[in-house]
Amino acid sequence: MASQAQTSEHEEIHYCEVHPEREATLRCNRCERYMCVQCAVQTPVGYRCRQCVRSQEDKYFNASDSDLLITGAICLVLSGIAGWIIGQIGLWLLFVIILGAPVGGLIAEVALRAVQRRRGRYMKQVSAAATAIGALFPVLYIFLQAGVFVPRLDVILFAGIAAFAVYGRMAMRG
Ligand SMILES: [Zn+2]
Ligand SMILES: [Zn+2]
Repeated sequence: MASQAQTSEHEEIHYCEVHPEREATLRCNRCERYMCVQCAVQTPVGYRCRQCVRSQEDKYFNASDSDLLITGAICLVLSGIAGWIIGQIGLWLLFVIILGAPVGGLIAEVALRAVQRRRGRYMKQVSAAATAIGALFPVLYIFLQAGVFVPRLDVILFAGIAAFAVYGRMAMRG
């Protein structure tokens, strides 16, 4: 009888704090709350609850809103200049493919240095979008001026590659 009691104590059932009807099979290794599989987030240091992951991220992302604006503006202007140059000279697609990523990487680097490499939660998305819009400026300009969409493949291709490179550069940094 005693051993049975011991066993049931050992296999004590806990319930998720967010979903009281669900059995908690996991425990946050930071705040030690019990949680169900759906609430658990697997991190490199083990399972954590969403609140703990969020508060860790808030410490990690130290950029302000103006930092986000600065990086976006820099990406917009620099890729706009690059897109305009390509629009003027008409680059071979092969050159666009070769040069697109390094130019995008350079744009990201300038933007990151301008905000002392601070991190923003949506910085890479905003910067990539700004890069694409900036690079497409020649096509957009003609569209707004003449009302015709000129399928400038070199400019469009550059916009895509550069935006991808900016995103990648910002996502990769350690
Ligand atoms: Zn936690
Ligand atoms: Zn849950």
